[in-house]
Amino acid sequence: MLTVKDLDVSYGDGPNKNHAVRMVSFRCGRGVSFGLVGESGSGKSTVLHCISGLIAKWSGTIMVDGKSQSPRRDRTFYKNVQLVFQDSNAALHPRHIVETLLAEPVMIHKLGDVDRRVRVALAEVGLKDSIRYRFPHQLSGGQRQRVGLARALILKPRILLLDEPTAGLDMVAQSNIIKLLNDLRRTYGLSYLIVSHDLAVIAELCEWVGVMKRGQLTDTQLSEHLVTRKQNLAPYTRKLVDAASNYVKRNLGT
Ligand code: ADP
Ligand code: MG
Repeated sequence: MLTVKDLDVSYGDGPNKNHAVRMVSFRCGRGVSFGLVGESGSGKSTVLHCISGLIAKWSGTIMVDGKSQSPRRDRTFYKNVQLVFQDSNAALHPRHIVETLLAEPVMIHKLGDVDRRVRVALAEVGLKDSIRYRFPHQLSGGQRQRVGLARALILKPRILLLDEPTAGLDMVAQSNIIKLLNDLRRTYGLSYLIVSHDLAVIAELCEWVGVMKRGQLTDTQLSEHLVTRKQNLAPYTRKLVDAASNYVKRNLGT
């Protein structure tokens, strides 16, 4: 349902040229969750931004449901494919209350029934209805992330692109968001493309893991194989797995 082939992106020109994404290819099937993991600056967000239409200058092929996408996207695309930004604090307009933030996409897409849709969307992400009158700065990080998610879900998309969905959250808020995302995917049969620098987060949310390093997709694995088939992993993937398991051992004493 989502196919990326030979995606290649450079920022800037001449001596300032930064070749951020190099010939990246992968597929994410219907209802599947695919994770891109890699260190900061490896090109993960750039991949997401090309798919979501935020970046127009790229080469390669991006296909949604067999339809090849040009840099300009139509309204149907945004009805089906929604991006949830990395920093919900920066992504939500600071002077708009939650109700306005959620109503906006409904009005742009002329779906009608605004009040009911806002109520349902808030409930879906586990927020009380009274939150609709608050401004983003009056919310916790976890609540803001949920509002960002509700704003994407309110259009009933089939594909969610999630950039670092748990970044900046404490451990409890992080595990609550992971549970919510897994529940929502199951309930609505959504497909996810998730970007995170944290392999543990990706392993909990995704069936497939793609490892990015310096703009390249260096390895693609089933999440369950990360521990059971370690001998088949590319060296850099194995390093990430070891780093993540050392972290778990150090912090949880297991
Ligand atoms: P990640 O999400 O994995 O941290 P990014 O996709 O944000 O990586 O960045 C990949 C590379 O592209 C980095 O070297 C970053 O500095 C550069 N980059 C990202 N966005 C821009 C931009 N708007 N202009 C110029 N360079 C950028
Ligand atoms: Mg990023």
